[in-house]
Amino acid sequence: MATPRLQAPRGTYDVLPEQAAPRLALETVARRVLEGAGYERIETPAFEATELFTRGVGASTDIVQKEMYTFPDAGGRSLTLRPEGTAPICRAYVEHGMQVRSQPVKLWYLSSFFRYERAQAGRYRQFWQVGAETIGSDDPAVDAESITLLWSILSELEVGGIVLRLGSLGTPAARAAYREQLAAYLHAHQERLSPEVAARIDLNPLRAFDADHPGTREVMAGAPVLMDALAPEDLEHFAEVRARLDAAGIAYRLDPTLVRGLDYYARTVFEFTSDLLGAQSAVGGGGRYDGLIEQLGGSHTPACGWAAGVERILLSAEHRPLPRAVCDLYVAGTGVAAFALAAEARRAGLNVQLELAGRSRKGQRKQAARLGAVHVALVEESGSIALEDAETGEQEPVDGAAAAIAQILKGRHL
Ligand code: AMP
Repeated sequence: MATPRLQAPRGTYDVLPEQAAPRLALETVARRVLEGAGYERIETPAFEATELFTRGVGASTDIVQKEMYTFPDAGGRSLTLRPEGTAPICRAYVEHGMQVRSQPVKLWYLSSFFRYERAQAGRYRQFWQVGAETIGSDDPAVDAESITLLWSILSELEVGGIVLRLGSLGTPAARAAYREQLAAYLHAHQERLSPEVAARIDLNPLRAFDADHPGTREVMAGAPVLMDALAPEDLEHFAEVRARLDAAGIAYRLDPTLVRGLDYYARTVFEFTSDLLGAQSAVGGGGRYDGLIEQLGGSHTPACGWAAGVERILLSAEHRPLPRAVCDLYVAGTGVAAFALAAEARRAGLNVQLELAGRSRKGQRKQAARLGAVHVALVEESGSIALEDAETGEQEPVDGAAAAIAQILKGRHL
């Protein structure tokens, strides 16, 4: 019996070489936009102490309740594969004393994350996010700038059908009072709610706005909205954010029911959706999380950030093929002299590919054409080298590796 073949785990995928170009384009654009605005790249570990997420993301969230890959390590510690990037970055900010740097600290990342979710198109168990965090300022310009930068990345990548929804959650105090008001309203209409929403009224009433259940949606259409309960300073902050977005020409829809699946947000929240994406329409989102760093043991530090899904961006973006790396030299010949020429040519900065499959001379010529090589070096066992112009087929003996490389470099700079 044949040995059974193995497959990648459900909800994961391989990035094959032919899929690398659009991902590279995404990374290039994100890097240019964010580093151009003074953001610096950060990378945190793929796993963290589980407590970081129960404390940081919130014990009542779907992520913590149902979606984390949590496991004990051999030393008996509870670890979790990171389901999101903000809590780890805030942990790093506190751990490395970044509050002494000039504020705000502006960080960006492009990393993979893990959530045990129902796998489907646009929803994976290991997925990638590009994200940015601005830590150490409550200026409304931070919120507006964050949004503008994500908007720039999405528009440069020609992500189609984009809509920006914007809301404000107010301060924790206003939100707590509103939660009680909303919970009372939900209890009064409990019999029309889905059992799942009804069971979580006291735990997380805001999530009722996210429900698809028809009865729940009817009830929510008449529910009190948070925007009406905001404190004057939060309304003022939100107005300042909007004024800056208006000034930058960024169109948005005010959405008083926008709640995000993570507990740490306060004040501004936003989400970009694309109507090209079907059911999984969220491309990216974020907001302000002024209380999170304190929750993780740091001092009070206002902050704001976002994360966008790499797979969703790629699904809804226009793809332009990237030019592949030019092959300056294809070394035909399999002996030591051929290998030495390839090594020396690479040290000189040329893009070199070596014959690795024992092809005949004819096969080698075909392979050189397939690679689009500009030059072919025919190297004999004796060490004698002839350079062939791939276009004309013209051959010319050269006096050793250094002469061959000099000649190719001369042509390259013409
Ligand atoms: P969130 O951290 O849940 O706000 O997610 C931010 C963005 O990441 C979403 O808008 C999606 O584009 C993307 N995302 C979240 N979860 C997944 C997933 N399981 N698979 C693919 N993309 C995801």
